[in-house]
Amino acid sequence: AEPMPCPPDSTELGASTWTFLHTMAAYYPEKPTPEDRQAMTSFIGALGRFYPCWYCASHFRDFTKANPPDLGSNLALSRWFCVAHNEVNERLGKPAFDCSRVLERWRTGRKECFE
Ligand code: FAD
Repeated sequence: AEPMPCPPDSTELGASTWTFLHTMAAYYPEKPTPEDRQAMTSFIGALGRFYPCWYCASHFRDFTKANPPDLGSNLALSRWFCVAHNEVNERLGKPAFDCSRVLERWRTGRKECFE
């Protein structure tokens, strides 16, 4: 039988998690209800508590404390996650992403993305 794939390391887990987080933020409501905001606040708190890379989670908690999540709309939340991701990019010596294009990257794309 084929050997089982290895569990993800923090790099692989990170790329998959950012895909999920940016996509989730892109599809968060344009006009969130108070319950939507509360649920997202809980989600972000749980992410900082349970994200299974302890030093990543610790940095994320520090970031969230210094930069309270902007829960006002899908665009606002997408920008917030973009800044959070850029903080990690900077720490790792990776280029910053242009957050004015975050929905283009994670939601609207270009024509050929949907063909
Ligand atoms: P990733 O950084 O995973 O990016 C994936 C794709 O997202 C890119 O190809 C690009 O198209 C897009 N993208 C890039 N930047 C942005 C942005 N700012 N906004 C929107 N889209 C963007 N690793 C560590 O070594 N130390 C840490 O402390 C650490 N903390 C992390 C905290 C969290 C919450 C998460 C989810 C991950 C963390 N990681 C950390 C992992 C790290 O961020 C990367 O995911 C990992 O290094 C793999 O990088 P990558 O080059 O595959 O691309």
